[in-house]
Amino acid sequence: MIQIKHDNLDNLAKRHWEAVKNYSSKKRVHYNLEHFEKNIKKYFPEFNLEMIVLAKPEILEVLALTWLSHQCKNFDDFKAFQTYYDYLTDGDKLFFYKENEKKDYSSKLLVNSLGLSVCPYCNRNFIQIIGNQRIDELDHFYPKSKYPFLALSFYNLIPSCKTCNQTFKGVKEISINPYDMPEKFKFALKIKNVDFYYKKEGFEIDFKELKAKLGLNFSVFELEKVYETHKDLILELIQKQITYSDDYIDDLFRRYEGTLFKNREDVLRHLSGNYVSESDFHLRPLSKLTHDIAQELGLL
Ligand SMILES: [Zn+2]
Repeated sequence: MIQIKHDNLDNLAKRHWEAVKNYSSKKRVHYNLEHFEKNIKKYFPEFNLEMIVLAKPEILEVLALTWLSHQCKNFDDFKAFQTYYDYLTDGDKLFFYKENEKKDYSSKLLVNSLGLSVCPYCNRNFIQIIGNQRIDELDHFYPKSKYPFLALSFYNLIPSCKTCNQTFKGVKEISINPYDMPEKFKFALKIKNVDFYYKKEGFEIDFKELKAKLGLNFSVFELEKVYETHKDLILELIQKQITYSDDYIDDLFRRYEGTLFKNREDVLRHLSGNYVSESDFHLRPLSKLTHDIAQELGLL
């Protein structure tokens, strides 16, 4: 699992809200802003639509708990949220203005703007858009079937792969929202026997920290089984650690400085077969796993 980071997250969230507001403020729409506000007040007197759409992860939690505390709940009061969510995925109704020009707003634009290439839940499957075809899905961190009023909330919409969203999570609840990951964790290596440098059976991936810090995310997304299938990558790293000395790395850098490699970090990236910097984790599958193990092996 990796954190969703973006320099202008608040601006993307505001644009998302504007698109909802613009359409719901039009004359003669099926559900207008007034309709939304009236129903929100029944359950959340301190809130309005803007606050719900822009709610950060900690506020989403307050809203979810408040909703659960209500004895009488009519899910039909929030039908409008599902309708607007369909507009968001269809992409032909919601709109915003950029330099006075009207633009369509859609979940495709939302995911594209976040610049994520890999699913934040598993950090394993690509979620890029290929041509016009989306291979990502938007997961609702708080499932919309249980919390319909959060169907449009920006920080409740998590771009993810089909395996995580449909196969593993479905309507289950998890503990950590990828927009808000305060706890750091590391994959580690557990050597079992002397065969570790040429056999996958010679070592294990140590999931202790993941289990402790990712809580339900770890079990719901079956992260242990998912990463176990990639022990061959770890074996490659172990073998690189044994065969590539500091002198070899320095030599490669000297030979290709200014052409293949801009700095020594480029050589290490080349050798570890992945991105080195944490800020690039969202661009490559299994980047967090290979980064942590490469670091433990002293390759980074
Ligand atoms: Zn995934």
